Amino acid sequence: MIGDTIAAISTPQGEGGIGIVRISGPEAVEITDKIFRTAKNKSRHQQNFKLVYGYIHDPGNERIIDEVLVGIMRAPHSYTKEDVVEINCHGGALPLRKTLEVVLKMGARMAEPGEFTKRAFLNGRLDLVQAESIIDIIRANTDEAMSLAIGQLSGGLSNKINEIKQQLLEITALIEANIDFPEEDIDDYNLEEILQRVGHIEHDINKLLENAEAGRIYREGLSTVIIGKPNVGKSSLLNVLLKENRAIVTDIPGTTRDLIEEVINIGGVPLKIIDTAGIRETEDIIEKIGVQKTKESIHAADFIILVFDAYDGLNKIDEQIIDMVKLKKGIKVLNKVDIQDREKLYITHKLKKILPHWPLVDISALKERGINKLENEVVSMVTGGKVIPRDSIMISNIRHKNQLVKAVNYLKDVKNAISQGISIDLIAIDIRGAWEAVSEITGTAVSENIVDKIFAEFCIGK
Ligand code: GDP
Repeated sequence: MIGDTIAAISTPQGEGGIGIVRISGPEAVEITDKIFRTAKNKSRHQQNFKLVYGYIHDPGNERIIDEVLVGIMRAPHSYTKEDVVEINCHGGALPLRKTLEVVLKMGARMAEPGEFTKRAFLNGRLDLVQAESIIDIIRANTDEAMSLAIGQLSGGLSNKINEIKQQLLEITALIEANIDFPEEDIDDYNLEEILQRVGHIEHDINKLLENAEAGRIYREGLSTVIIGKPNVGKSSLLNVLLKENRAIVTDIPGTTRDLIEEVINIGGVPLKIIDTAGIRETEDIIEKIGVQKTKESIHAADFIILVFDAYDGLNKIDEQIIDMVKLKKGIKVLNKVDIQDREKLYITHKLKKILPHWPLVDISALKERGINKLENEVVSMVTGGKVIPRDSIMISNIRHKNQLVKAVNYLKDVKNAISQGISIDLIAIDIRGAWEAVSEITGTAVSENIVDKIFAEFCIGK
């Protein structure tokens, strides 16, 4: 419910130089006045956008809790468009918790996960795409994911969506011009124009959808398994890839980080390596943990890096693994090509026929040869071989993609209806359907359920 005042610790748990308690709502300033004294012992802090030095105390016993800097951002010029107060405490568990406690005691309510950002959305400071991009910025672990999210926060995608919405509204206006004069036949010229405009919007949406899968992977990463029989060089390869490309990763509550142990940044594509424990075991995963566990890892993966041994050739275990991964997307890697051996020619010939739609790359993990080629192949598989300009507007969120697919389906219905001579007011309903589908992306028409679900993904304090 908007109207009450919420508070939370907005910085991560653990020790830090500072930590911030954030308060938002109509009583934010009043509550602060009750618990804050400036260094000159004034109780009121009224200066907007200024950090004021002083102390937080408990009005119950007058005991000082922490030495702080307090900033006030008055409505509507704040993150939530409400009065916001940020109390910069010392960054330890106790000062933060005790400060939050007095804030709550003075009448604030503990904020729910994502509630600050939800208020920013409900108060019209951000649309839904922008609110979602904030979580993407926080979680980004490659430059590409970060610039995608920043682009969405600054409104690139929202503008495109609004443009599409506007075009749909214009079609509705054209249709209404027809409905207003029902005694006249539907004007052929008008229908032709409607068809043309629908085709144009469909084209725009399809262009956005074209790169949506790549966008999703840049945003979410590609769950990857490195697999191969014992001693082919899986951990050697992993180590080479990690050496220069280890991505910065933060723990994200509620996600299955336990399966994923390393994230590697391959040309902007975060490869989330599943089951590094299995890779790093000296005895191999297949022997040690068993076929079932291997199958589970493969099942959880979007992408397979299947490693073969140029020196050792192919054997039964290779065949067994090939059989397990054959329905997946992946890349074949022939390792140890630094060792000159007759076996290599033979195995290359054979590997070309196995999983023929997977690219084959020769490498030497030991001598670090062929690694760039391997990385380029991974990126090319994600982008479908296209060069995607960094600043292009890209769909990266599966929710947005699904809404666009819905809209395109409505537009197809419109085209069919027109060709079948179906009544114009029924066509208007499909145009409306497309408009609603697109509007759900930015949140102008969106159910409370969806909003709640989106913000539940945030942590408390955001
Ligand atoms: P894993 O069991 O698949 O993880 O294989 P390892 O990475 O532990 O490698 C097994 C052995 O192969 C080690 O002795 C590595 O030094 C060696 N090895 C790995 N990659 C190469 C390579 O490219 N060339 C050569 N000659 N040896 C390699």
